[in-house]
Amino acid sequence: MPKDFAEDIHGFLNGEHREQALRETVRYVQSIIETIRDPLIVLDDKLRVISANQSFYDMFLLQPEETEGNLIFEVNGGQWDIPRLRELLEKILPRNTSFNDFEIDHNFPCIGQRIMLLNARRIYSEGNKTQSILIGIEDITERKHMEQEVAASEVRYRRLFETAQDGILILDANSGQIEDVNPFLIAMLGYSQEEFLGKKLWEIGPVKDIQASQEAFKELQDSEYIRYEDLPLETSGGKQIQVEFVSNVYPVNGRKVIQCNVRDVTERKKIEKLKDDFIGMVSHELGNPLTVITGCLNTVLDEEANLTEQEKTHLLRNAALETDVLSHILGNLLELARARAERLFLHVEPIDTYIVARNVVERIMQQYSSYKIMADFPEDIPLVDADPLRVERILYNLVDNACKYSPKGSEVRIFAKLNANDIIIGVRDQGVGIPISEHKMIFSAFERLETNASGRVKGTGIGLMVCQRLVEVHGGQIWLESAPGKGSTFYFSLPLKHSAH
Ligand code: ADP
Repeated sequence: MPKDFAEDIHGFLNGEHREQALRETVRYVQSIIETIRDPLIVLDDKLRVISANQSFYDMFLLQPEETEGNLIFEVNGGQWDIPRLRELLEKILPRNTSFNDFEIDHNFPCIGQRIMLLNARRIYSEGNKTQSILIGIEDITERKHMEQEVAASEVRYRRLFETAQDGILILDANSGQIEDVNPFLIAMLGYSQEEFLGKKLWEIGPVKDIQASQEAFKELQDSEYIRYEDLPLETSGGKQIQVEFVSNVYPVNGRKVIQCNVRDVTERKKIEKLKDDFIGMVSHELGNPLTVITGCLNTVLDEEANLTEQEKTHLLRNAALETDVLSHILGNLLELARARAERLFLHVEPIDTYIVARNVVERIMQQYSSYKIMADFPEDIPLVDADPLRVERILYNLVDNACKYSPKGSEVRIFAKLNANDIIIGVRDQGVGIPISEHKMIFSAFERLETNASGRVKGTGIGLMVCQRLVEVHGGQIWLESAPGKGSTFYFSLPLKHSAH
Protein backbone atom coordinates (compact mmCIF):
# COMPACT_ATOMS: atom_id res chain seq x y z
CA MET A 1 0.00 0.00 0.00
CA PRO A 2 1.44 3.43 -0.92
CA LYS A 3 1.96 6.15 1.63
CA ASP A 4 -1.23 7.56 2.98
CA PHE A 5 -2.66 9.43 0.10
CA ALA A 6 -5.26 11.06 2.33
CA GLU A 7 -2.64 12.87 4.29
CA ASP A 8 -1.04 14.38 1.25
CA ILE A 9 -4.22 15.60 -0.22
CA HIS A 10 -5.35 16.68 3.16
CA GLY A 11 -2.13 18.55 3.62
CA PHE A 12 -2.05 20.47 0.44
CA LEU A 13 -5.76 21.12 0.28
CA ASN A 14 -6.60 22.16 3.77
CA GLY A 15 -3.62 23.33 5.71
CA GLU A 16 -4.26 23.36 9.42
CA HIS A 17 -8.02 22.71 9.45
CA ARG A 18 -8.17 19.12 10.43
CA GLU A 19 -11.80 18.71 10.97
CA GLN A 20 -13.64 15.49 11.03
CA ALA A 21 -15.84 16.21 8.05
CA LEU A 22 -12.88 17.07 5.97
CA ARG A 23 -11.08 13.91 7.00
CA GLU A 24 -13.96 11.91 5.73
CA THR A 25 -14.03 13.81 2.48
CA VAL A 26 -10.34 13.21 2.06
CA ARG A 27 -10.76 9.51 2.77
CA TYR A 28 -13.56 9.44 0.33
CA VAL A 29 -11.38 11.09 -2.29
CA GLN A 30 -8.57 8.69 -1.48
CA SER A 31 -10.74 5.68 -2.07
CA ILE A 32 -11.87 7.13 -5.36
CA ILE A 33 -8.29 7.75 -6.41
CA GLU A 34 -7.30 4.24 -5.42
CA THR A 35 -10.09 2.76 -7.47
CA ILE A 36 -9.28 4.82 -10.55
CA ARG A 37 -7.84 2.43 -13.07
CA ASP A 38 -5.57 5.02 -14.65
CA PRO A 39 -2.29 5.74 -12.87
CA LEU A 40 -2.08 8.97 -10.85
CA ILE A 41 1.00 10.55 -9.36
CA VAL A 42 1.43 13.57 -7.14
CA LEU A 43 4.60 15.68 -7.22
CA ASP A 44 5.64 18.54 -5.04
CA ASP A 45 6.73 21.89 -6.42
CA LYS A 46 10.31 20.58 -6.73
CA LEU A 47 8.97 17.77 -8.88
CA ARG A 48 9.58 15.14 -6.20
CA VAL A 49 7.14 12.30 -6.01
CA ILE A 50 4.86 12.72 -3.01
CA SER A 51 2.79 9.68 -3.75
CA ALA A 52 1.12 7.62 -6.47
CA ASN A 53 -1.84 5.32 -6.68
CA GLN A 54 -1.71 1.54 -6.96
CA SER A 55 -2.39 1.62 -10.71
CA PHE A 56 0.76 3.67 -11.16
CA TYR A 57 2.90 1.16 -9.30
CA ASP A 58 1.27 -1.74 -11.11
CA MET A 59 1.72 -0.25 -14.52
CA PHE A 60 5.34 0.80 -14.10
CA LEU A 61 6.29 -2.21 -11.98
CA LEU A 62 7.51 0.02 -9.14
CA GLN A 63 7.33 0.02 -5.36
CA PRO A 64 6.43 3.11 -3.28
CA GLU A 65 9.80 2.92 -1.47
CA GLU A 66 11.82 3.36 -4.62
CA THR A 67 9.53 6.05 -5.93
CA GLU A 68 8.34 8.41 -3.25
CA GLY A 69 10.64 11.22 -2.24
CA ASN A 70 12.60 10.95 -5.48
CA LEU A 71 12.66 13.46 -8.29
CA ILE A 72 10.27 12.23 -10.99
CA PHE A 73 13.12 12.35 -13.49
CA GLU A 74 15.22 10.01 -11.36
CA VAL A 75 12.59 7.39 -10.62
CA ASN A 76 13.62 3.90 -11.65
CA GLY A 77 16.94 4.75 -13.26
CA GLY A 78 15.66 7.92 -14.95
CA GLN A 79 13.03 6.31 -17.16
CA TRP A 80 10.83 9.40 -16.72
CA ASP A 81 13.60 11.70 -17.77
CA ILE A 82 11.88 12.52 -21.01
CA PRO A 83 13.00 15.84 -22.52
CA ARG A 84 9.49 16.92 -23.51
CA LEU A 85 8.07 16.03 -20.10
CA ARG A 86 10.88 17.92 -18.45
CA GLU A 87 10.13 20.97 -20.57
CA LEU A 88 6.46 20.70 -19.75
CA LEU A 89 6.89 20.33 -16.02
CA GLU A 90 9.75 22.82 -15.66
CA LYS A 91 8.72 25.48 -18.13
CA ILE A 92 5.13 25.23 -19.25
CA LEU A 93 3.27 24.10 -16.16
CA PRO A 94 4.69 26.86 -13.94
CA ARG A 95 3.06 29.34 -16.29
CA ASN A 96 -0.27 27.51 -16.54
CA THR A 97 -2.41 25.78 -13.99
CA SER A 98 -2.82 22.67 -16.08
CA PHE A 99 -2.03 20.87 -19.26
CA ASN A 100 -4.24 18.38 -21.00
CA ASP A 101 -3.69 15.40 -23.21
CA PHE A 102 0.04 15.72 -23.51
CA GLU A 103 1.15 12.73 -25.54
CA ILE A 104 4.45 11.00 -24.96
CA ASP A 105 5.72 8.12 -27.03
CA HIS A 106 8.49 6.63 -24.98
CA ASN A 107 10.43 3.46 -24.47
CA PHE A 108 10.11 2.60 -20.75
CA PRO A 109 12.82 0.05 -19.92
CA CYS A 110 10.49 -2.10 -17.81
CA ILE A 111 7.33 -2.05 -19.95
CA GLY A 112 8.65 -1.20 -23.40
CA GLN A 113 7.46 1.30 -25.99
CA ARG A 114 4.24 2.96 -24.79
CA ILE A 115 2.17 5.91 -25.81
CA MET A 116 0.87 7.80 -22.78
CA LEU A 117 -1.50 10.68 -22.44
CA LEU A 118 -0.68 12.95 -19.49
CA ASN A 119 -3.01 15.41 -17.82
CA ALA A 120 -1.64 17.63 -15.08
CA ARG A 121 -3.10 20.10 -12.57
CA ARG A 122 -1.32 22.42 -10.21
CA ILE A 123 -2.95 22.22 -6.82
CA TYR A 124 -2.41 24.96 -4.23
CA SER A 125 -2.57 24.57 -0.56
CA GLU A 126 -3.68 27.97 0.60
CA GLY A 127 -2.58 27.64 4.22
CA ASN A 128 1.03 26.58 3.95
CA LYS A 129 1.37 27.99 0.46
CA THR A 130 2.71 24.74 -0.89
CA GLN A 131 1.99 23.63 -4.33
CA SER A 132 1.53 20.11 -5.73
CA ILE A 133 1.13 18.70 -9.16
CA LEU A 134 -1.33 15.94 -9.84
CA ILE A 135 -0.58 13.99 -13.00
CA GLY A 136 -3.05 11.54 -14.49
CA ILE A 137 -1.60 9.03 -16.93
CA GLU A 138 -3.53 7.15 -19.56
CA ASP A 139 -1.89 4.38 -21.54
CA ILE A 140 -3.28 4.86 -25.04
CA THR A 141 -0.85 2.54 -26.82
CA GLU A 142 -3.51 0.03 -27.85
CA ARG A 143 -6.01 2.74 -28.76
CA LYS A 144 -3.39 4.54 -30.81
CA HIS A 145 -2.47 1.34 -32.63
CA MET A 146 -6.14 0.66 -33.29
CA GLU A 147 -6.60 4.19 -34.58
CA GLN A 148 -3.57 3.79 -36.82
CA GLU A 149 -4.93 0.46 -38.05
CA VAL A 150 -8.32 2.00 -38.74
CA ALA A 151 -6.70 4.96 -40.50
CA ALA A 152 -4.52 2.61 -42.59
CA SER A 153 -7.49 0.46 -43.44
CA GLU A 154 -9.50 3.56 -44.35
CA VAL A 155 -6.67 4.63 -46.68
CA ARG A 156 -6.58 1.14 -48.22
CA TYR A 157 -10.34 1.00 -48.80
CA ARG A 158 -10.42 4.59 -50.03
CA ARG A 159 -7.74 3.68 -52.55
CA LEU A 160 -9.70 0.63 -53.67
CA PHE A 161 -12.75 2.85 -54.07
CA GLU A 162 -10.82 5.52 -55.95
CA THR A 163 -8.99 3.15 -58.28
CA ALA A 164 -11.64 0.45 -58.78
CA GLN A 165 -12.23 -0.40 -62.40
CA ASP A 166 -15.96 -0.69 -61.68
CA GLY A 167 -18.32 2.13 -60.85
CA ILE A 168 -19.26 2.33 -57.15
CA LEU A 169 -22.05 4.34 -55.55
CA ILE A 170 -22.82 4.65 -51.85
CA LEU A 171 -26.39 5.63 -50.96
CA ASP A 172 -28.23 6.33 -47.77
CA ALA A 173 -30.51 3.30 -47.42
CA ASN A 174 -33.42 5.32 -46.05
CA SER A 175 -33.51 8.31 -48.34
CA GLY A 176 -31.73 6.81 -51.36
CA GLN A 177 -29.53 9.89 -51.57
CA ILE A 178 -26.11 9.41 -53.11
CA GLU A 179 -23.36 9.91 -50.53
CA ASP A 180 -20.31 8.93 -52.51
CA VAL A 181 -19.37 8.10 -56.08
CA ASN A 182 -16.03 6.85 -57.33
CA PRO A 183 -14.02 8.37 -60.20
CA PHE A 184 -14.64 5.35 -62.46
CA LEU A 185 -18.41 5.87 -62.40
CA ILE A 186 -17.95 9.60 -62.96
CA ALA A 187 -15.88 8.80 -66.05
CA MET A 188 -18.27 6.05 -67.20
CA LEU A 189 -21.40 8.20 -67.08
CA GLY A 190 -19.84 11.60 -67.74
CA TYR A 191 -21.56 13.40 -64.84
CA SER A 192 -19.58 15.39 -62.27
CA GLN A 193 -19.35 14.43 -58.62
CA GLU A 194 -21.56 17.42 -57.70
CA GLU A 195 -24.24 16.16 -60.08
CA PHE A 196 -24.33 12.86 -58.18
CA LEU A 197 -23.98 13.86 -54.54
CA GLY A 198 -27.15 14.43 -52.52
CA LYS A 199 -29.37 13.26 -55.40
CA LYS A 200 -31.38 10.13 -55.84
CA LEU A 201 -30.48 7.75 -58.64
CA TRP A 202 -33.50 8.65 -60.71
CA GLU A 203 -32.87 12.37 -60.31
CA ILE A 204 -29.75 12.27 -62.46
CA GLY A 205 -29.67 11.71 -66.18
CA PRO A 206 -28.44 8.12 -66.72
CA VAL A 207 -31.60 6.42 -65.48
CA LYS A 208 -34.44 6.84 -67.91
CA ASP A 209 -37.18 4.73 -66.40
CA ILE A 210 -37.85 6.71 -63.22
CA GLN A 211 -40.81 4.68 -62.02
CA ALA A 212 -38.96 1.38 -62.48
CA SER A 213 -35.98 2.78 -60.55
CA GLN A 214 -38.16 3.90 -57.66
CA GLU A 215 -39.76 0.46 -57.53
CA ALA A 216 -36.33 -1.18 -57.69
CA PHE A 217 -35.19 0.99 -54.78
CA LYS A 218 -38.17 -0.13 -52.69
CA GLU A 219 -37.40 -3.73 -53.53
CA LEU A 220 -33.78 -3.18 -52.53
CA GLN A 221 -34.84 -1.69 -49.20
CA ASP A 222 -37.00 -4.75 -48.55
CA SER A 223 -34.76 -7.54 -49.79
CA GLU A 224 -31.41 -5.77 -49.17
CA TYR A 225 -30.01 -7.15 -52.44
CA ILE A 226 -30.70 -6.53 -56.09
CA ARG A 227 -28.94 -7.54 -59.29
CA TYR A 228 -29.50 -6.64 -62.93
CA GLU A 229 -27.61 -8.39 -65.69
CA ASP A 230 -28.02 -5.65 -68.25
CA LEU A 231 -29.54 -2.38 -67.19
CA PRO A 232 -29.75 0.27 -69.91
CA LEU A 233 -28.22 3.63 -68.94
CA GLU A 234 -27.49 6.78 -70.86
CA THR A 235 -24.26 8.76 -70.48
CA SER A 236 -24.26 12.56 -70.29
CA GLY A 237 -23.16 12.51 -73.95
CA GLY A 238 -26.32 10.57 -74.88
CA LYS A 239 -24.51 7.25 -75.45
CA GLN A 240 -26.58 4.18 -74.57
CA ILE A 241 -24.68 1.69 -72.45
CA GLN A 242 -25.60 -1.53 -70.73
CA VAL A 243 -24.43 -2.11 -67.18
CA GLU A 244 -24.42 -4.97 -64.73
CA PHE A 245 -25.86 -3.46 -61.55
CA VAL A 246 -25.40 -5.18 -58.20
CA SER A 247 -26.40 -3.49 -54.98
CA ASN A 248 -26.69 -4.56 -51.38
CA VAL A 249 -27.49 -3.00 -48.04
CA TYR A 250 -25.20 -3.12 -45.02
CA PRO A 251 -24.89 -1.37 -41.68
CA VAL A 252 -22.25 1.27 -41.01
CA ASN A 253 -22.04 2.95 -37.61
CA GLY A 254 -25.55 1.98 -36.67
CA ARG A 255 -27.24 3.06 -39.89
CA LYS A 256 -27.78 1.37 -43.22
CA VAL A 257 -26.06 2.24 -46.46
CA ILE A 258 -26.43 0.82 -49.93
CA GLN A 259 -23.46 0.00 -52.09
CA CYS A 260 -24.06 -0.24 -55.83
CA ASN A 261 -21.45 -1.75 -58.11
CA VAL A 262 -21.88 -0.73 -61.71
CA ARG A 263 -19.99 -2.53 -64.48
CA ASP A 264 -20.15 -1.44 -68.08
CA VAL A 265 -20.99 -4.61 -70.01
CA THR A 266 -21.77 -2.95 -73.34
CA GLU A 267 -18.70 -4.42 -75.02
CA ARG A 268 -19.18 -7.83 -73.41
CA LYS A 269 -22.81 -7.94 -74.54
CA LYS A 270 -21.73 -6.90 -78.02
CA ILE A 271 -19.16 -9.69 -78.13
CA GLU A 272 -21.68 -12.21 -76.80
CA LYS A 273 -24.09 -11.18 -79.54
CA LEU A 274 -21.31 -11.38 -82.12
CA LYS A 275 -20.50 -14.89 -80.95
CA ASP A 276 -24.15 -15.93 -81.14
CA ASP A 277 -24.49 -14.35 -84.56
CA PHE A 278 -21.27 -16.01 -85.62
CA ILE A 279 -22.40 -19.47 -84.59
CA GLY A 280 -25.69 -18.92 -86.42
CA MET A 281 -23.92 -17.56 -89.48
CA VAL A 282 -21.33 -20.35 -89.63
CA SER A 283 -23.94 -23.06 -89.29
CA HIS A 284 -25.94 -21.39 -92.02
CA GLU A 285 -23.04 -20.71 -94.38
CA LEU A 286 -21.62 -24.21 -93.97
CA GLY A 287 -25.02 -25.86 -93.95
CA ASN A 288 -26.10 -24.46 -97.32
CA PRO A 289 -23.31 -25.89 -99.51
CA LEU A 290 -23.43 -29.15 -97.56
CA THR A 291 -27.13 -29.56 -98.35
CA VAL A 292 -26.40 -29.02 -102.05
CA ILE A 293 -23.47 -31.47 -101.99
CA THR A 294 -25.45 -34.21 -100.22
CA GLY A 295 -28.44 -33.60 -102.46
CA CYS A 296 -26.40 -33.86 -105.67
CA LEU A 297 -24.44 -36.92 -104.57
CA ASN A 298 -27.51 -38.77 -103.30
CA THR A 299 -29.39 -38.07 -106.51
CA VAL A 300 -26.52 -39.47 -108.59
CA LEU A 301 -26.33 -42.56 -106.38
CA ASP A 302 -30.09 -43.21 -106.06
CA GLU A 303 -31.17 -42.27 -109.55
CA GLU A 304 -28.17 -43.54 -111.48
CA ALA A 305 -30.27 -45.68 -113.79
CA ASN A 306 -32.63 -42.85 -114.71
CA LEU A 307 -30.03 -40.11 -115.26
CA THR A 308 -28.29 -39.27 -118.50
CA GLU A 309 -24.50 -38.92 -118.50
CA GLN A 310 -24.93 -35.19 -118.98
CA GLU A 311 -27.25 -34.89 -115.97
CA LYS A 312 -24.87 -36.91 -113.80
CA THR A 313 -21.92 -34.70 -114.81
CA HIS A 314 -23.98 -31.60 -114.06
CA LEU A 315 -24.88 -32.86 -110.57
CA LEU A 316 -21.32 -33.90 -109.80
CA ARG A 317 -20.01 -30.55 -111.02
CA ASN A 318 -22.47 -28.78 -108.72
CA ALA A 319 -21.28 -30.89 -105.81
CA ALA A 320 -17.66 -30.07 -106.67
CA LEU A 321 -18.47 -26.38 -106.91
CA GLU A 322 -20.15 -26.29 -103.53
CA THR A 323 -17.25 -28.26 -102.07
CA ASP A 324 -14.98 -25.47 -103.28
CA VAL A 325 -17.27 -22.88 -101.57
CA LEU A 326 -17.28 -24.94 -98.39
CA SER A 327 -13.54 -25.38 -98.35
CA HIS A 328 -13.08 -21.64 -99.02
CA ILE A 329 -15.24 -20.71 -95.98
CA LEU A 330 -13.48 -23.28 -93.79
CA GLY A 331 -10.14 -22.01 -95.06
CA ASN A 332 -11.06 -18.44 -94.07
CA LEU A 333 -12.12 -19.58 -90.61
CA LEU A 334 -8.86 -21.46 -90.17
CA GLU A 335 -6.78 -18.47 -91.26
CA LEU A 336 -8.65 -16.29 -88.80
CA ALA A 337 -8.05 -18.77 -85.99
CA ARG A 338 -4.35 -18.94 -86.89
CA ALA A 339 -4.10 -15.14 -87.02
CA ARG A 340 -5.76 -14.82 -83.62
CA ALA A 341 -3.38 -17.38 -82.14
CA GLU A 342 -0.49 -15.57 -83.87
CA ARG A 343 0.36 -18.76 -85.72
CA LEU A 344 -0.05 -17.48 -89.23
CA PHE A 345 3.14 -18.68 -90.94
CA LEU A 346 3.79 -18.17 -94.64
CA HIS A 347 5.35 -20.51 -97.20
CA VAL A 348 7.11 -17.90 -99.26
CA GLU A 349 8.50 -18.53 -102.76
CA PRO A 350 8.93 -16.43 -105.88
CA ILE A 351 5.48 -16.38 -107.51
CA ASP A 352 3.93 -15.11 -110.69
CA THR A 353 0.91 -13.13 -109.49
CA TYR A 354 -0.66 -13.25 -112.95
CA ILE A 355 -0.84 -17.05 -112.81
CA VAL A 356 -2.41 -16.84 -109.36
CA ALA A 357 -4.96 -14.32 -110.64
CA ARG A 358 -5.83 -16.57 -113.60
CA ASN A 359 -6.43 -19.51 -111.24
CA VAL A 360 -8.81 -17.40 -109.22
CA VAL A 361 -10.67 -16.27 -112.34
CA GLU A 362 -11.03 -19.88 -113.48
CA ARG A 363 -12.29 -21.09 -110.11
CA ILE A 364 -14.68 -18.25 -109.58
CA MET A 365 -16.07 -18.25 -113.14
CA GLN A 366 -17.72 -21.59 -112.36
CA GLN A 367 -19.80 -19.94 -109.64
CA TYR A 368 -20.36 -16.61 -111.31
CA SER A 369 -20.61 -17.65 -114.95
CA SER A 370 -22.70 -14.63 -115.93
CA TYR A 371 -20.02 -12.11 -114.83
CA LYS A 372 -17.22 -10.81 -117.01
CA ILE A 373 -14.27 -11.59 -114.78
CA MET A 374 -10.80 -10.86 -116.15
CA ALA A 375 -7.17 -10.55 -115.12
CA ASP A 376 -5.46 -7.66 -116.82
CA PHE A 377 -1.73 -7.60 -115.93
CA PRO A 378 1.20 -5.80 -117.63
CA GLU A 379 3.46 -8.28 -119.41
CA ASP A 380 6.65 -7.41 -117.54
CA ILE A 381 5.23 -7.95 -114.06
CA PRO A 382 8.08 -9.51 -112.02
CA LEU A 383 7.92 -12.42 -109.62
CA VAL A 384 7.28 -11.54 -105.99
CA ASP A 385 8.25 -13.36 -102.79
CA ALA A 386 4.91 -14.53 -101.43
CA ASP A 387 2.86 -17.51 -100.29
CA PRO A 388 0.93 -18.53 -103.46
CA LEU A 389 -2.02 -20.13 -101.62
CA ARG A 390 -2.43 -17.08 -99.41
CA VAL A 391 -2.31 -14.64 -102.33
CA GLU A 392 -4.88 -16.82 -104.08
CA ARG A 393 -7.07 -16.66 -100.96
CA ILE A 394 -6.82 -12.85 -100.80
CA LEU A 395 -7.76 -12.54 -104.45
CA TYR A 396 -10.52 -15.12 -104.19
CA ASN A 397 -12.11 -13.21 -101.28
CA LEU A 398 -11.91 -9.89 -103.12
CA VAL A 399 -13.23 -11.23 -106.43
CA ASP A 400 -15.93 -13.21 -104.64
CA ASN A 401 -17.06 -9.97 -102.92
CA ALA A 402 -16.82 -8.03 -106.18
CA CYS A 403 -19.28 -10.47 -107.76
CA LYS A 404 -21.53 -10.78 -104.70
CA TYR A 405 -22.05 -7.04 -104.41
CA SER A 406 -22.43 -6.32 -108.17
CA PRO A 407 -25.31 -6.89 -110.52
CA LYS A 408 -25.23 -10.02 -112.68
CA GLY A 409 -23.45 -9.58 -115.96
CA SER A 410 -21.21 -6.78 -114.72
CA GLU A 411 -17.47 -6.60 -115.11
CA VAL A 412 -14.92 -7.55 -112.45
CA ARG A 413 -11.35 -6.72 -113.32
CA ILE A 414 -8.15 -7.84 -111.57
CA PHE A 415 -5.22 -5.64 -112.48
CA ALA A 416 -1.65 -4.98 -111.33
CA LYS A 417 0.76 -2.09 -111.21
CA LEU A 418 4.49 -2.20 -110.56
CA ASN A 419 6.17 0.17 -108.10
CA ALA A 420 9.83 0.42 -107.10
CA ASN A 421 9.54 -1.93 -104.12
CA ASP A 422 6.18 -3.58 -104.45
CA ILE A 423 3.40 -4.47 -106.78
CA ILE A 424 -0.16 -3.29 -106.30
CA ILE A 425 -2.96 -5.67 -107.21
CA GLY A 426 -6.46 -4.26 -107.57
CA VAL A 427 -9.95 -5.74 -107.97
CA ARG A 428 -12.46 -3.35 -109.52
CA ASP A 429 -16.21 -3.94 -109.68
CA GLN A 430 -19.27 -2.04 -110.88
CA GLY A 431 -21.32 -2.87 -107.83
CA VAL A 432 -23.24 -1.14 -105.06
CA GLY A 433 -20.19 0.61 -103.58
CA ILE A 434 -19.41 1.41 -99.95
CA PRO A 435 -19.84 4.77 -98.16
CA ILE A 436 -16.50 6.30 -97.09
CA SER A 437 -17.62 6.27 -93.45
CA GLU A 438 -17.66 2.43 -93.59
CA HIS A 439 -14.31 1.89 -95.29
CA LYS A 440 -12.46 1.13 -92.06
CA MET A 441 -15.20 -0.82 -90.36
CA ILE A 442 -15.69 -3.44 -93.08
CA PHE A 443 -12.27 -4.92 -92.24
CA SER A 444 -13.46 -5.81 -88.73
CA ALA A 445 -14.67 -9.33 -87.99
CA PHE A 446 -18.33 -10.06 -88.67
CA GLU A 447 -19.09 -6.53 -89.87
CA ARG A 448 -21.50 -6.65 -92.77
CA LEU A 449 -23.07 -3.50 -94.11
CA GLU A 450 -26.79 -3.06 -93.75
CA THR A 451 -26.73 -0.32 -96.31
CA ASN A 452 -25.64 -2.38 -99.32
CA ALA A 453 -26.66 -5.75 -100.52
CA SER A 454 -25.16 -7.84 -97.68
CA GLY A 455 -28.58 -8.39 -96.18
CA ARG A 456 -29.61 -10.26 -99.28
CA VAL A 457 -26.22 -11.74 -100.14
CA LYS A 458 -24.74 -14.67 -98.25
CA GLY A 459 -21.49 -14.11 -96.45
CA THR A 460 -19.60 -14.68 -93.23
CA GLY A 461 -18.34 -11.16 -92.55
CA ILE A 462 -14.77 -12.37 -92.13
CA GLY A 463 -13.46 -12.33 -95.73
CA LEU A 464 -11.97 -8.83 -95.64
CA MET A 465 -10.49 -9.34 -92.21
CA VAL A 466 -8.73 -12.48 -93.44
CA CYS A 467 -7.46 -10.51 -96.48
CA GLN A 468 -6.12 -7.79 -94.20
CA ARG A 469 -4.30 -10.27 -91.95
CA LEU A 470 -2.82 -12.15 -94.90
CA VAL A 471 -1.66 -8.96 -96.63
CA GLU A 472 -0.12 -7.67 -93.42
CA VAL A 473 1.92 -10.84 -92.77
CA HIS A 474 3.33 -10.39 -96.25
CA GLY A 475 4.41 -6.88 -95.22
CA GLY A 476 1.86 -5.19 -97.50
CA GLN A 477 -1.22 -3.01 -97.07
CA ILE A 478 -4.85 -3.21 -98.13
CA TRP A 479 -7.21 -0.31 -98.88
CA LEU A 480 -10.11 0.66 -101.11
CA GLU A 481 -11.68 3.36 -103.19
CA SER A 482 -15.42 3.21 -103.27
CA ALA A 483 -18.60 5.23 -103.04
CA PRO A 484 -22.24 4.17 -103.16
CA GLY A 485 -23.39 3.58 -106.73
CA LYS A 486 -19.86 4.05 -108.10
CA GLY A 487 -18.51 0.53 -107.67
CA SER A 488 -15.51 -0.41 -105.53
CA THR A 489 -11.82 -1.01 -106.11
CA PHE A 490 -9.92 -2.95 -103.46
CA TYR A 491 -6.11 -2.70 -103.60
CA PHE A 492 -3.37 -4.58 -101.86
CA SER A 493 0.38 -4.25 -102.05
CA LEU A 494 2.97 -7.02 -101.92
CA PRO A 495 6.65 -6.17 -101.35
CA LEU A 496 8.78 -7.60 -104.17
CA LYS A 497 11.24 -8.97 -101.63
CA HIS A 498 9.69 -10.59 -98.60
CA SER A 499 11.47 -9.90 -95.35
CA ALA A 500 10.56 -12.51 -92.74
CA HIS A 501 8.74 -11.13 -89.69
P1 ADP B 1 -18.93 -10.94 -96.33
O1 ADP B 1 -18.81 -12.39 -96.12
O2 ADP B 1 -20.12 -10.35 -95.67
O3 ADP B 1 -18.82 -10.53 -97.76
P2 ADP B 1 -16.47 -9.49 -95.96
O4 ADP B 1 -15.61 -9.35 -94.74
O5 ADP B 1 -15.82 -10.04 -97.15
O6 ADP B 1 -17.71 -10.32 -95.51
O7 ADP B 1 -17.06 -8.07 -96.28
C1 ADP B 1 -17.60 -7.28 -95.26
C2 ADP B 1 -18.68 -6.37 -95.80
O8 ADP B 1 -18.10 -5.37 -96.65
C3 ADP B 1 -19.68 -7.06 -96.67
O9 ADP B 1 -20.71 -7.67 -95.92
C4 ADP B 1 -20.19 -5.92 -97.54
O10 ADP B 1 -21.16 -5.21 -96.81
C5 ADP B 1 -18.98 -5.04 -97.71
N1 ADP B 1 -18.25 -5.32 -98.99
C6 ADP B 1 -17.14 -6.07 -99.15
N2 ADP B 1 -16.73 -6.05 -100.45
C7 ADP B 1 -17.61 -5.29 -101.10
C8 ADP B 1 -17.74 -4.85 -102.46
N3 ADP B 1 -16.87 -5.24 -103.42
N4 ADP B 1 -18.77 -4.04 -102.77
C9 ADP B 1 -19.64 -3.64 -101.84
N5 ADP B 1 -19.58 -3.99 -100.53
C10 ADP B 1 -18.58 -4.80 -100.16
